Amino acid sequence: MIPHQPSDALLLDYASGAAAEPVSLLVATHLTLCPESREKVAAYEAIGGMLIEEAKETDAVPDALRNRVLSSLDELDMGSKQVRQAGVGKSSVASKIPQPLRAYCEEAIENDQWQWSGFGIKKIPLLETQDVFDCYLLMIRGGKEVPKHDHVGNEWTLVLDGSFTDETGHFARGDIAERQQGEIHKPVASPGADCICLVVADAPVALTGAMGRLLNPFISN
Ligand code: ZN
Repeated sequence: MIPHQPSDALLLDYASGAAAEPVSLLVATHLTLCPESREKVAAYEAIGGMLIEEAKETDAVPDALRNRVLSSLDELDMGSKQVRQAGVGKSSVASKIPQPLRAYCEEAIENDQWQWSGFGIKKIPLLETQDVFDCYLLMIRGGKEVPKHDHVGNEWTLVLDGSFTDETGHFARGDIAERQQGEIHKPVASPGADCICLVVADAPVALTGAMGRLLNPFISN
């Protein structure tokens, strides 16, 4: 069992179709690695379906809303079919990234479009048309640390390869770290393999500490 599961609120948002695209991508990728979360999402979807059936009989839900919910459930179903058809990537990094995420970043990985942030950290920005969300693939060299930082909003980090440790525990492949506003942490990649993660944040992070204050102007968009 994966020790660091996403919160029920996050899975429910995903199952109901309420989650924004970057968050849905993160949860869908986690689901390919975690049977327990897949079961929970299937249960939420079944409950959602039952509520819709009940509403149909009483006609309590307007047609437009009902159709919107039904079509988002169809999309979820299509998404899970695509997960099952996942192929094998060419480069060793891309091959460690499960679908559906791989489709979003494979070309950038093959073309080596990593942006170095210094200190053994590099990233590939994803879904850049999203206004609110910051979404990127992060690679931390084995043994290196991400500068200590504060969160203005929510940040979700899904580990895809390698592992890291922060003040709240140890995170390995499939684990999701959820950080909220006001929580400060300093993730450190375990020695050895590089740690590859998908990071989604709904507000920019703020670096803390003397080094952080120097670097802040360079990391904010
Ligand atoms: Zn963080």
